[in-house]
Amino acid sequence: MKLADSNCPRCSGEGIEFFPTDQGARAKVCACRKTCPACKGIGRVLVEKDGRRMARCGCQRLPDRVAILNRANLPSRHHKSSFRNFDPSMGGRAALMQCQGWAGSFAVGQDRKGLLLWGEVGRGKTHLVIATLKHIAVHHGARVRFVEFTHLLAELRAGIEQRRRGNAKLLTSLQDVDVLAIDELGKGRCTEWELSILDDLISRAYNGMRTLLGSTNYTPHGGPTGVHTDNLALPEEHRARLVDRVGLRIHSRLLEMSEPLPVRGQDYRIVGDRPKDMRR
Ligand SMILES: [Zn+2]
Ligand SMILES: [Zn+2]
Repeated sequence: MKLADSNCPRCSGEGIEFFPTDQGARAKVCACRKTCPACKGIGRVLVEKDGRRMARCGCQRLPDRVAILNRANLPSRHHKSSFRNFDPSMGGRAALMQCQGWAGSFAVGQDRKGLLLWGEVGRGKTHLVIATLKHIAVHHGARVRFVEFTHLLAELRAGIEQRRRGNAKLLTSLQDVDVLAIDELGKGRCTEWELSILDDLISRAYNGMRTLLGSTNYTPHGGPTGVHTDNLALPEEHRARLVDRVGLRIHSRLLEMSEPLPVRGQDYRIVGDRPKDMRR
């Protein structure tokens, strides 16, 4: 029985509303959700199976999933991002369909290859990663976690400078998930220290048989070119590839754990802000 209003503008009938905060996107049970008639909102019901006992009501699955989403570290600027509001008219239709298909057939505990979304800046890669994470958390109960790699580095750096002991705990907390998403792979200065953190993160996910989602502005195809610059304005043939940015070991792990998925189209961020009739 559906407790949320399928025409609700805040949750589109899914029963979960997202909103931005200074600490990132947060989720809550939508106000449109009606009180559960089975448990009258108490959350427990009496079941008669091998005697009578109280059991958790099925309606409690939604608040459980809200809790997962509140631990997912989703960024505030993407609090609204979903499959529904991704604009595929800009050329990302194939990528959208692949992500939807992947998310639709996801099952917790299944050994599953992830996706590595790649393409030019502003194509909506992060939007699709967030939409995929939300879908599998809401519909399949997957414990998901989003990592903006440069933010993680800044957090770790601050931890070292202030001699806090939280860094090991922070990295360990990223293991405690079903699906880890790492945004902006290959971005940053790619110093030895930065790459050792990335290597650690990916190795933990690999050894723990976690599913990996990634996004990158660099092509994951082809061998090293010897170009290491992060200048994405260069013509394709003079631009670094993902392997040049992250090194052979991390690159091969990434490809072992995730399937490259090109996200094509016009610059999504610029075009997305213009009125519809201005779009070419
Ligand atoms: Zn609602
Ligand atoms: Zn209930």
